[in-house]
Amino acid sequence: MTSVDSSKHKKARALKPTSRRPAKELCSECGLCDTYYIHYVKEACAFINQQIGELEEQTHKRSRHLDNPDELYFGVHQDMMAARKQQPIEGAQWTGIVSSLAIEMLNRGLVEGVVCVQNTKEDRFQPMPIIARTPEEILAARVNKPTLSPNLSILEQVEQSGMKRLLVIGVGCQIQALRAVEKQLGLEKLYVLGTPCVDNVTRAGLQKFLETTSRSPETVVHYEFMQDFRVHFKHEDGSTETVPFFGLKTNKLKDVFAPSCMSCFDYVNSLADLVVGYMGAPFGWQWIVVRNDIGKEMLDLVKDQLDTQPVMSQGNRKEAVQQSIPAYDQAVTLPMWAAKLMGVVIERIGPKGLEYARFSIDSHFTRNYLYVKRNYPEKLEAHVPEYAKRIVGQYKLPE
Ligand SMILES: Cc1cc2nc3c(=O)[nH]c(=O)nc-3n(C[C@H](O)[C@H](O)[C@H](O)COP(=O)(O)OP(=O)(O)OC[C@H]3O[C@@H](n4cnc5c(N)ncnc54)[C@H](O)[C@@H]3O)c2cc1C
Repeated sequence: MTSVDSSKHKKARALKPTSRRPAKELCSECGLCDTYYIHYVKEACAFINQQIGELEEQTHKRSRHLDNPDELYFGVHQDMMAARKQQPIEGAQWTGIVSSLAIEMLNRGLVEGVVCVQNTKEDRFQPMPIIARTPEEILAARVNKPTLSPNLSILEQVEQSGMKRLLVIGVGCQIQALRAVEKQLGLEKLYVLGTPCVDNVTRAGLQKFLETTSRSPETVVHYEFMQDFRVHFKHEDGSTETVPFFGLKTNKLKDVFAPSCMSCFDYVNSLADLVVGYMGAPFGWQWIVVRNDIGKEMLDLVKDQLDTQPVMSQGNRKEAVQQSIPAYDQAVTLPMWAAKLMGVVIERIGPKGLEYARFSIDSHFTRNYLYVKRNYPEKLEAHVPEYAKRIVGQYKLPE
């Protein structure tokens, strides 16, 4: 099934939302179950009913071409590029392409509201989803809240507000559930601006990650796993701290990622119209994937604010991925001097551009495949999409 039918919808509206989580420990807290749309969860939830292929057909009018190596990895698309804002937005995660696009769509009257996520007053990392109706509210949502965020919890408000034209910004699991209930929202036009997403955590998990990895966890305002194989932490005083991936305390961090993220195979947000991330671009640049005509229409609105360059690809990831599989599995943690040295070497000779993106996808898909196989063997066959099976099939996995 691709989307839900409307006779069910009347019944659903009569239901009061509950705090039930039908996906149990695999719940990614996308927010659907905080609304009366919980009625559709068995069809819509990315972790109960994997249906990326069907939803690709519904959204892009075709599923990805598995024999096209770029589509196999990055999903249905008509264009990819590296880009950055000529005048970056201060305090954005990267250069603020996402916020700029949302503002432009609102200012030009293409949409009446934007679903995005601000943070609470008390905690800069505690997500607070909103429907933004002004550029100021969109700007206040800039920068990642690197935690599971219930963006879809505002879906009832969308329907009640009578809004007909909406932009939703979100990560893959949120967008999968959104696409499944899209026809029930009473919208005339829905635009979806996605970001890639991987290794997300609960708020408590984030605290553990920061305390285990940063020299000053309480002053971190922003962090990212960057294309130079280092985690970059930005602190309140403007200073940057870098920690090589290979120096992460894997033994302590193994359980920090949410079980939903350990079971996710939609790193690249396959069902968004337009995706803005960084991992397929050279260091310092953002990566844009235009999936369909709606995505092209969106990107055209901000093109004059961007420097762009074609995507590039360099190096060969395969050996590094193969070696990392048992290393992660056995939670090997290198001493910091060795990790730094390895970071320098791999930065010089390691994969870059699209090959870095493939490195990251391969590493996460092989890890997640093993996780599902070991913890939810009964789900493995249906939950892992065909493209992910092909990607994982390139490697030798431990039992
Ligand atoms: C949890 C997470 C993990 C990510 N991992 C990767 C990755 O591995 N590889 C990669 O290429 N890109 C990843 N991204 C995307 C990347 O970090 C940037 O968000 C993206 O490039 C946009 O940058 P920007 O400066 O244009 O965004 P900004 O203009 O700063 O806007 C950021 C937008 O993100 C939204 N947002 C913030 N937190 C969340 C959240 N928890 N859930 C949903 N939406 C949120 C906000 O509403 C805001 O509109 C990730 C994003 C998130 C939220």
